[in-house]
Amino acid sequence: MMAYAFFNHQFIPLSDTKIGIMTHCLHYGTGVFEGIRGNWNEEEGQLHIFRLREHYERLLCGCRVLNIEIPYDINELCQITVELIQRSDFKENIYIRPLAYKGSEALGVRLHKLDDSFTVFSFPWGPYLDTEGVKCMVSSWRRPNETPQAKITGLYVNNALAKTEAIQNGLHEAIMLTSDGHVSEGSGENIFLVQNGVLVTPGIDDLMVVGITRDAVIKLVKDELGVQVIERRVNHSELYSSAECFLSGTAANITPVIEIDGRKIGTGKAGDLTKKLQNIYSEIILGKNSRYKKWCTPVFSNSRT
Ligand code: PMP
Repeated sequence: MMAYAFFNHQFIPLSDTKIGIMTHCLHYGTGVFEGIRGNWNEEEGQLHIFRLREHYERLLCGCRVLNIEIPYDINELCQITVELIQRSDFKENIYIRPLAYKGSEALGVRLHKLDDSFTVFSFPWGPYLDTEGVKCMVSSWRRPNETPQAKITGLYVNNALAKTEAIQNGLHEAIMLTSDGHVSEGSGENIFLVQNGVLVTPGIDDLMVVGITRDAVIKLVKDELGVQVIERRVNHSELYSSAECFLSGTAANITPVIEIDGRKIGTGKAGDLTKKLQNIYSEIILGKNSRYKKWCTPVFSNSRT
C-alpha cells in the first residue's frame, strides 16, 4: 500500500508532490477543496466512496466562483479518483482531498491571469470526532460574513481559529454563529437539533457549507425515521434547550453533541433519534443498504462479493 496523488495530470507517489513557495493559492487562499470519504467494508473486501459525484459537483460550483477552469469534466474527475484509490490499494477507511487552485507562481491579489491547477490525493483516516459524543463551545469567532458559499481554502481561517479555541478550552469542537448571532455550523460540520420530536437545522442562508452529509441526513430522517425536518434560523439559546443535538459532515459522519458551554444537552448522552440515525448512516456508507447503493461508488473490481 502506498499513498498516491494525481498531480500535474499524472499519478505519482504522494511524497513526491511539491509546489513552489510563490504559488498563488498559498498566499491568498485562492483554492477550492473537497473532503470525501471512502469506507472499507471488510466482509465484502470493498471500499465504497460516499457521494463522489455530489462532491465534484460542489467543487465545480466553487471553481466557477473562483474563476478556476480545470481540464476535466465530472465523469473524468470521478474516474481519476477511483483510479487513484485503486493504485493506492487502501484496505481501510480513507479520506480523499481534491483541490482546484490558482497554481501560478505569481503574486498579486486577483483571480484573473493566473494558471489553474487540480490535484487529488488520499490517505487512511479514522474517526475525526468521538462518535459516542462531543463537548462543544459557542465560538467567539463568527462565520465569515457575505462570503461565497463554497469550500474555499481562504475562508477556513475563522474555522481554524474556532476549532483551536475549543481545543484550548478542553473541548472537542466549536459551534460558530453568523455575524448577526444565529447558529451557523461547526468548524467542519453542519448542526442539527431535536425539539419536540422534530429535527431543526439552520437553512442555507446561515451556512458557509451546505453539506452533502446534511442532505443525506435530511432525506434519511424524513424517509427512514418518518420525522419532520425544519430548515430555519436557529437562535443561540436553542442550542442549550434542545433535547438532542448532533453534527454532520464527511469527516465527522454523525457525531452526537452531549454538552455545549458547560450545559448538558438532553440527558448528557447521545439521544435516541441521533443513535437511530447513526445506525442507519453507518450501514449506508458501507454499501450495506440496497436502497442507498446509489450513494456509494465501489472502488475494487475484485471484491469478494
Ligand atoms: N460545514 C463546514 C464548514 C465544513 O467544512 C463541512 C465539511 N465539508 C461541512 C459543513 C459538512 O459538509 P459535508 O457534509 O459535505 O462534508
